[in-house]
Amino acid sequence: MGAKPGIPPRRAGIADEAREGPLESDPVYTSDQPYGPYRHARNSHSCHAFLSRTIRHCGRPDITSPSGRATLLRRRRSGSGRPGPGGAGVTRMNCRAAKAAVKRAAELAVAKTAPLLWRRRHGSLVVLMYHRVLPPGDPRLEAEQPGMYVHPETLRFHLATLKRHFQPVRLDHWILAARNNAPLPERAFAITFDDGWADNFEYAYPVLTEEDVPATIFVVSDLVGTGRLFWPERLGLLLRQGLARHAAQLYSFSEFAWLRALDMPMPSSERELDPERLDRIINGAKRDDDATLCARVDAMASRLGDAGSSGAAQILSWEQIRTMVGSGLISIGSHTRRHTRLSDALTPERLHDEIAGSRFVIESNAGCEAPLFCYPNGDATATVRSLVAEHYLAACSTLHGWHSIAADRYMIRRISVHQDITRDETSLLARLSGWI
Ligand SMILES: [Zn+2]
Repeated sequence: MGAKPGIPPRRAGIADEAREGPLESDPVYTSDQPYGPYRHARNSHSCHAFLSRTIRHCGRPDITSPSGRATLLRRRRSGSGRPGPGGAGVTRMNCRAAKAAVKRAAELAVAKTAPLLWRRRHGSLVVLMYHRVLPPGDPRLEAEQPGMYVHPETLRFHLATLKRHFQPVRLDHWILAARNNAPLPERAFAITFDDGWADNFEYAYPVLTEEDVPATIFVVSDLVGTGRLFWPERLGLLLRQGLARHAAQLYSFSEFAWLRALDMPMPSSERELDPERLDRIINGAKRDDDATLCARVDAMASRLGDAGSSGAAQILSWEQIRTMVGSGLISIGSHTRRHTRLSDALTPERLHDEIAGSRFVIESNAGCEAPLFCYPNGDATATVRSLVAEHYLAACSTLHGWHSIAADRYMIRRISVHQDITRDETSLLARLSGWI
């Protein structure tokens, strides 16, 4: 990609000698949820909320209306539950099919309309949020949540589709140009990856190079070059191993008993630990703080005599980062030192260490500037935002939607994309609209 008006050229190489920095001994790791309650809470006025309401009431009477309440009462008196000639199983299948049909109809309508409206959105920026890029059948997918990955061919298809509607830009370049009132592309898109997964180098980097699309990778500085994992992936691996060995007896161990308190049915065999159920368990666990969760996962690992690691290197190394940075195509941003969810409950020293300390570690080791920040789990209080503004050019949130020149550059909205919701052009265009 050549230099665009108002967009600074890419860096040609690495200026500094890279060196490893010290790592702390008590890391606290978490992983964010691109589709968790935090983001949904901010979609209440969107098309997404309308669809959710429509789908939620599918097959059930609306108890907010008098006629709905009357229907419910009638069904309870007759003991019939939900109506349907084929019984509850068939009704559930019908309901699922109806939900899919409603969703698909909405996607088709949005995918046709939205691109026409994009033509009027001058100076807008669509920032896409990815995490992992793994091929089908990769063993690393076994302990992964559905919202965390796309396949390499899906990424290639996304980039080709995006380039037909938008101009690719590097996020820091676009932000700098906007801040300096320099000319901007009419409509642009920027790619981001959160967490710093090794598969970003193995599978995303080759596709980005082929398609000549720049990207920013937000790394957790203290994890780079280590064999350590985030607690959600460790939890998934330990649950799978524990269920394979002990089945439902697993929860009789005191180290696993806390899972019973999550108020949801727990899998009683490895087969029952499907991606959706793992997703719910991880989201339920997030009610506790990172330190508590890491301690629990450590205790579970000790009980099973396993570190909760897949064996393969899952996080980027500094060497891989330096290779990508040297291409000029990839920029590196900070995702804190330990992926700690940032809140006012943390001491000012800890906040400073996570926010400013991570930038120092990245720049010392990667040999590049790291002017962008990304809030783990999207958590950002006013104190956190103000500290980030002292040390960074801009920051990405997990808020859903498009970014624009007038918007707060310390709360950049993004569109989260993953394999199960953007595998064809209709669903991708609908998702890119920011309405779904
Ligand atoms: Zn993250």
